[in-house]
Amino acid sequence: MSEMGEELKRNAWMQMNEEEVQAAYLFADSYIDFLDRAKTEREAVDYIRHLSQEHGFTALDQADTIKPGDKLYFEAKGKVCALIIVGQQDLQQGINLVASHIDTPRLDLKPRPLYEAEGLSLLKTHYYGGIKKYQWLAIPLALHGVIVKKDGSQVQVQLGEDENDLVFTIADLLPHLAKEQMEQKMVDAIKGESLNALIGSRPEINGGKDPVKSAVMKLLEQHYGIEEDDFTSAELQFVPAFKARHVGLDRSMVGGFGQDDRICAYTSLKAILDTSVPQRTAVCLFADKEEIGSSGNTGLQSLIVELLVAELMQKAGCGDYYAVRKALADSYCLSADVNGAVDPNYLDVFEKMNNSYLGRGVVLTKYTGSRGKYDSNDANPEFVGKIRRLFDENRVVWQVGELGKVDAGGGGTVAQYVARYGMEVVDCGPAILGMHSPFEISSKADIYMTYQAYQAFLSSFAY
Ligand code: MN
Ligand code: MN
Repeated sequence: MSEMGEELKRNAWMQMNEEEVQAAYLFADSYIDFLDRAKTEREAVDYIRHLSQEHGFTALDQADTIKPGDKLYFEAKGKVCALIIVGQQDLQQGINLVASHIDTPRLDLKPRPLYEAEGLSLLKTHYYGGIKKYQWLAIPLALHGVIVKKDGSQVQVQLGEDENDLVFTIADLLPHLAKEQMEQKMVDAIKGESLNALIGSRPEINGGKDPVKSAVMKLLEQHYGIEEDDFTSAELQFVPAFKARHVGLDRSMVGGFGQDDRICAYTSLKAILDTSVPQRTAVCLFADKEEIGSSGNTGLQSLIVELLVAELMQKAGCGDYYAVRKALADSYCLSADVNGAVDPNYLDVFEKMNNSYLGRGVVLTKYTGSRGKYDSNDANPEFVGKIRRLFDENRVVWQVGELGKVDAGGGGTVAQYVARYGMEVVDCGPAILGMHSPFEISSKADIYMTYQAYQAFLSSFAY
């Protein structure tokens, strides 16, 4: 038998025993179920709330005081939430935070979306986050979200998930007439204004100037009790209508929508649910709006981490401004987000010595950013050294990862916003293929190692 090659040695599967391999496959089954149930940030928050309640977490805002071992749940606006387990150590010494995001690139409906053209009724969209527009054409789309009526009542919408349910779609131009389009630059070939989804084609008798639109509006009125203006106060998203799947003959991968970054949300969720009383207070934060720059009052630029820690400390009896600031500055954070795996089909944008691979375990990304590290956190080596030690002591298979070649592009995460408080933070999550596509690919070995990494950090990181 020949010596195991250097690359093979780094493969997570090769370092796992039979029991761990079985555990990784089992873990992925429940992860796939999560991906199917939580396609929007609101649905992810609902899922996390329910599961954490089953595990004995109670609402932080209902608690008068807190003590070590308390399991608490924090939520804002139905789109961002956190789970907390109060540690034995004084809160003033800081928290161990795992911060992921639960928003995902998709197509949002415009505030006035419905119109009729050429005998068809369509919905106008405005894309959210970084998408390659062509990937959203000619696939079945489901519509998820909430409509808020003028009286404050809410209508929940989820259309297209059941196999027998209807779906929506954006038709693509036939190749026969796409000669000019095919010669355009990819970025110009499909316009944002042409991402209009079909919603109906059957006219109503006496339906006036727009009989198909009128028929659609009537159906919306019957099923949801809404009028056209109600779209103005709605949050409706088109997401791929298909389910997450096992990928590969060996079923070693997961394919599905929204793995950036629900892969980190789910693994950190499971990690904190499996944590008992930690030394330092353990917090998992599930944020919104990362994909558009962490803006808005549900994104991490909104100082929500500070609000959360201030509330905890006030209830622990030490909530003065300096104590809160000091606790934040003495905290540790894993910015839980994905990296782009080296893709054998596009090797020219990767730098193989420093980029991450599918199946080589969780990725420690010291810095993200673009060009000269602009907008990156660039983790302190003192902190990265401690995390390396933590992972090695806990049999966590990990790798380094920079996103692609230096001049190929770049990206950011929540790390820079968490770093504002002065806490130590490093990006840490699995590598995936096809990031931001409707069908992203991850490795079941990496999913499992990410869960192990977060659990080790939440339950025992206290250097
Ligand atoms: Mn992400
Ligand atoms: Mn992303």
